[in-house]
Amino acid sequence: MGGVLTTCPYCGCGCNFVLQVLEGRVVGTSPVQGHPVSRGSMCVKGWNAHEFVHAPDRLAGPLMRRNGSLVPAAWDEAMASAADGLRQTVARHGPDSVVFFSSAKCTNEENYLMMKLARTAFGTNNVDHCARLCHSSSVVGLAETFGSGAMTNSIDELAQARCIFVIGSNTTEQHPQVASRIMASVHGGGALIVADPRSIRLTQFAKIHMRHRPGTDVALINSMMHVIMAEGLEDRDFIAARTENVDALKRGVAAYGPQRGQAITGVPAEVIVQAARMFAQAETAAIVYAMGITQHITGVDNVRSLANLSMLTGNIGKPSTGVNPLRGQNNVQGSCDMGALPDVYTGYQKVKDPAAREKFARAWGVSRLPDSPGLTVVEAMHAAAEGRIKAMYIMGENPMMSDPELRLAEKALQSLDLLIVQDIFLTETARLAHIVLAGASFAEKDGTFTNTERRVQRVRKAIEPIGDTRADWQILCDMAHRCGYAGMNYSSPEDIFNELAALTPTYRGMSYPRLEPWGLLWPCPAADHPGTPYLHKDTFARGKGHFSPVEFRSPDEMPDEQYDLILTTGRIYFHWHTGSMTRRTSPLNRESPVAFVEISPEDASARGVRSGANVRVSTRRGTIELVARVTKDVAPGVVFIPFHFYEAAANLLTNPALDPEAKIPEYKVCAARLEACP
Ligand code: SF4
Repeated sequence: MGGVLTTCPYCGCGCNFVLQVLEGRVVGTSPVQGHPVSRGSMCVKGWNAHEFVHAPDRLAGPLMRRNGSLVPAAWDEAMASAADGLRQTVARHGPDSVVFFSSAKCTNEENYLMMKLARTAFGTNNVDHCARLCHSSSVVGLAETFGSGAMTNSIDELAQARCIFVIGSNTTEQHPQVASRIMASVHGGGALIVADPRSIRLTQFAKIHMRHRPGTDVALINSMMHVIMAEGLEDRDFIAARTENVDALKRGVAAYGPQRGQAITGVPAEVIVQAARMFAQAETAAIVYAMGITQHITGVDNVRSLANLSMLTGNIGKPSTGVNPLRGQNNVQGSCDMGALPDVYTGYQKVKDPAAREKFARAWGVSRLPDSPGLTVVEAMHAAAEGRIKAMYIMGENPMMSDPELRLAEKALQSLDLLIVQDIFLTETARLAHIVLAGASFAEKDGTFTNTERRVQRVRKAIEPIGDTRADWQILCDMAHRCGYAGMNYSSPEDIFNELAALTPTYRGMSYPRLEPWGLLWPCPAADHPGTPYLHKDTFARGKGHFSPVEFRSPDEMPDEQYDLILTTGRIYFHWHTGSMTRRTSPLNRESPVAFVEISPEDASARGVRSGANVRVSTRRGTIELVARVTKDVAPGVVFIPFHFYEAAANLLTNPALDPEAKIPEYKVCAARLEACP
């Protein structure tokens, strides 16, 4: 048996493990001691990360739709048909009639190629990926306040923090390695504050649990800042030396005394006061958040508020502090870094900036590049449903499970003249495609992923692509060639990495040899630079940190007589994202085989519902049936549904209302009704 060191394909922690190989098959994983994040441990998903690779229903080769059914096709025919279809669509309807969805599951090199393909071969900025649905609010909010939209500090530093404020993150379930550092801080005497509408595992170890009403984060944080300023606990030296606009913040939070905070959030005023003091008085205090903060129509405001809190208390630009958005998928940070977004190239260089356009046009050998930002994921779906988008090329994404209000996604995809899906399984989205291109899994290709703490690290090929599948980077290069663009000839992923690093200031000092053994944290601007564990040390990326006061706004849809509960959605420990990999992994499926809804004992009893009973949950957008789990983990008036289960897809119910700046949908709050099944 052989072994190949690589990076986990699941969460943004970015653990490394050894893939065990026997006779051309991956048969297991084993931990590695030296890795700075995983340190010889893995969660249950990592231990089982090999099984889906050989799932019996892996796509074995390309498929084409004939007489209404998807049937096997030769690569040459499928690629020729896809390339012709894309070219004809652009010729007939213009470059912006085509949309490209890149993938947070794929490598940096592949994301770079996808956005390069869209911009060079087709002349459109219509390229986006699922970061839009999880952390686009972080990118916008932190870029405005700090000048850079990534996790400010490294994972390991959390273990030494004297106070950690976890808000909107079920960390033990979704980012187990981050949770282990939070627990190390607690065991070392650090204070843990958790703000979450649900009781989560971390609340057992928290000094304070603020169980605020879903969607009231801005009011809660404003109220904490009100207390900090009223009691003179702000870091005046830091504010004077490093920030601007504090007077506006003072005015902005003046009306959010703790009593008003209590009225809006439901958290007792004295608890808000206690939390504010605990955070402000700690020697080092870090903020950790995830999609409980970002997936709201006020997602950017929520992020701004957290940035304000960190600057107000001087907890930024130092070890074991900072504002730390936990990225969901294995390479969602890298997909953003690679410019798989409609408004930026790699390293967040703006498409609107003439100098950036000229730089990339010269490097890519094209005379011009499009200058106006393209459509985001949700905007593209709306445009397709309205007939303005004619073709989509979707790589490694499953919008038929991950988009809000799935009926709209289905209508949009079915109305396309051409849908090309590149994936490793026949996902819910691939089933609607005209052409399916069979990609390779993480075990079958080389490349890099960037984890949530900005660590760029190697993915290494352990086995040959299964059946007649191909690595995504090779498919993309072939597509570019067939579409008449000659600038995507690469001999290896390393070749691609060298090109993208040269164009990206934060990656410029990196190379495959330098990423040995455990990667580098960006920014790494020169070949002798050691990488950067924490950001904004002496100055913010934008110069001075900018306080951005925000007013509380209610969620888009609140309970009423007809829909009397708040539905919030999320993830669970045993499954990942749309379940396309974890639900094909027997130990994970055994532990959590069916869709469920969590409901409080009070609400269950009022509806005559017992744990284990089948219930129906409805919103204005649809109805699903699933099993009730009666638990005090959710507060009365709130129900929770994980979104991994296609047979009871939570996103049939969710609200597509968008944050006006980040265009992220409000997955975390909508009005719902629950009743026992007859
Ligand atoms: Fe590590 Fe996350 Fe993979 Fe678990 S899922 S092994 S925590 S990277």
